[in-house]
Amino acid sequence: MFSTSLHQASATSSHPLAPYGWDAGWDAEFAPYAEQGLLPCRVVRVDRGQADVVTPDGTVRADTALVTPHDPMRVVCTGDWAALEPEGSPRLIRTLLPRRTAFVRSTSSKRSEGQILAANVDHAIIAVSLAAELDLGRIERFLALAWESGATPLVVLTKADLVPDATGLSYLVEDVETTAPGVQVIAVSSETGDGVDVLAAVVSSGTSVLLGASGAGKSTLANALHGADAMEVQAIRDVDGKGRHTTTTRNLLVLPGGGVLIDTPGLRGVGLWDSESGVGQVFSEIGELARDCRFHDCGHVSEPGCAVLAAVEDGTLHERRLDSWRKLIRENERIVAKTDARLRGEIRRDWKQKHAEGRANHAAKRGGRIR
Ligand code: ZN
Repeated sequence: MFSTSLHQASATSSHPLAPYGWDAGWDAEFAPYAEQGLLPCRVVRVDRGQADVVTPDGTVRADTALVTPHDPMRVVCTGDWAALEPEGSPRLIRTLLPRRTAFVRSTSSKRSEGQILAANVDHAIIAVSLAAELDLGRIERFLALAWESGATPLVVLTKADLVPDATGLSYLVEDVETTAPGVQVIAVSSETGDGVDVLAAVVSSGTSVLLGASGAGKSTLANALHGADAMEVQAIRDVDGKGRHTTTTRNLLVLPGGGVLIDTPGLRGVGLWDSESGVGQVFSEIGELARDCRFHDCGHVSEPGCAVLAAVEDGTLHERRLDSWRKLIRENERIVAKTDARLRGEIRRDWKQKHAEGRANHAAKRGGRIR
C-alpha cells in the first residue's frame, strides 16, 4: 500500500497519515527524506529517549537518540513530524521536520529553562469552568501562551448548564469576548451536549490542545470530543483520563469527527515563557492606544500625554486590563532576565574552559558574539 512516491501533492488527502494531520505542506517538507527512503511519522508519545510514532504502516516504538541534542528546544515532543528509518532495531528517528508551532513552558521557578510540551498545534482550546467565578486574568495568561505558541486560541466556557439563565450566560460570554479580542468564545455543556457540536466543528481540521486550570473540565471535554458516552467517561477517568483502558497512553488521538487532539500531562498548569509578543496580542488595544502616547517609550504610569492612562480615565479601557497587562509584562521580564542570566553563565563557563586550554584567540572571537 505504501510507496516511496508519497511526496506527490495529489496523494496527500489519501495519505495514510492524513487523519493525523498530514497535508501538502508536510508532503513538501518531507520530499527530500522520501527520496532517501525514509518514512514519515508523527510522534504520539515520548518517554525517556523513546517515542511512539505513527507511520503509514502503523504505530512503532522509535529511538530519538539522533535528534535529541543538548538544546531543550530541539527535544522530540508529542505532535512532531519526523523522518524515520524504514527498518532497524531500534528504529531511529533521523530528523524532525521544522515545527509550525510549539508550546513551551518554563520547567521550574528556580531554573528558568524552556520545555517543549507540544508541537504543530493549530487550535489552543482554553477551557474555563463556569462553575467558579470567572478569572479573566487567568484567561489572559492562557491566551498569551496560546498566541506565543503560534496556535489560534479558542476559549471554551465549560459547565454552561450551571448558569441558570440564557441572559446570564450571554453576559459571561461577552465578558470573555472583551478580554479576548478576536478570539472565538463558545459556551459548552457536556451534560446537555450544548455547544459540543460547535467545538467539534472547529477542531475537525488540524491539531488541537486543551489548556486550562485544573477543574476546568478538560478531561470531560476531551471525552466529549472522543464521543465517549457518560458511562465510559466515568470508567476512563478512573483509569487514565485519556479515553482508553490501555496501559500505554497515547497523548495524540485522532477524533471521530476529524482532527487530532493532543492531551499531555505536561500541558496542565503551563506558565508563561518569554511570551512578549503573545502578551502584546492579548492586549492589542493597549498597544494601539500606546501609539498615541506623547513619548515613544511611555511606560503608561504617570507620563504626560499618555493615551493609555487617558483611556482608563474616560472609561474606554478598564483599569483591570491595564493592571493585568502590567502583571504579565513584569512576569515575562523576570523570566527573560533569568534566561539571560543562565545564558551569560554558560558563556562565562565556556570562556573559562577556553582559557584553561590556552586558546585565548578563540575566546576573543567568541567575545564578539555576546549580545
Ligand atoms: Zn502611555
